[in-house]
Amino acid sequence: MSKQSPVTPARTATSEARTGGLLGYTICVYGGASQHVAADHHALAAEVGKGIGQAGGDLVFGGGKVGLMGASSLAAQEAGSAVTGVITRFLLDMEAANRELSELIVVETMHQRKNIMMERADAFVILPGGFGTLEEVMEVVTLKQLGQLDKPIVFADFSGFWQPLIALFDHFEQQNYLHNRFEDLYHLAATPNAILERLETALAAQKASLEAAARA
Ligand code: AMP
Repeated sequence: MSKQSPVTPARTATSEARTGGLLGYTICVYGGASQHVAADHHALAAEVGKGIGQAGGDLVFGGGKVGLMGASSLAAQEAGSAVTGVITRFLLDMEAANRELSELIVVETMHQRKNIMMERADAFVILPGGFGTLEEVMEVVTLKQLGQLDKPIVFADFSGFWQPLIALFDHFEQQNYLHNRFEDLYHLAATPNAILERLETALAAQKASLEAAARA
């Protein structure tokens, strides 16, 4: 794995003073790379990124300037987040790698990319996307089902975007193909504010239960 030198410092001067419910947390944002989707999805993705930055959170994502991942990461960066991109060498041009991130990690394989994003994340936001996003989200949902990952997952359900997938999960459950109640694996939130609230609540609850376990 090669790692590029940071072009900008991890924190800006103003970000040192940041406060908020996501302070100290890194949010992994998955989302489509397509440039041809509804404009309101871009705007909502940017609002999510901005909200993460304003709430003191940092961000890890696929490293490109394109699509919803680009929109959310650029907005988070502007709002003071330390933003880490993880991208494969062969996608550097295809997904217009942002070379002004706090950190841009260049890897060789998609598996390495996903692993680093997953390890660095404290929670996941799933923006609308296509096959790549679906692949990424299914990995975290399935690992959570197996108890190998215990991090909040929030679907950004803009205009019910993810409802067809949720209907498929429902079908799996009705046919007894699931090992957990699937609703226990993730949260759904339809607006940027609701997404941020969900992240903050879930991370605070997780912190409280870890602290209680440590005291016991
Ligand atoms: P898409 O949702 O298809 O627009 O893809 C969103 C992101 O997922 C893009 O950055 C893709 O490069 C990435 N992606 C596509 N396939 C995979 C994969 N097998 N593993 C990890 N990331 C992927």
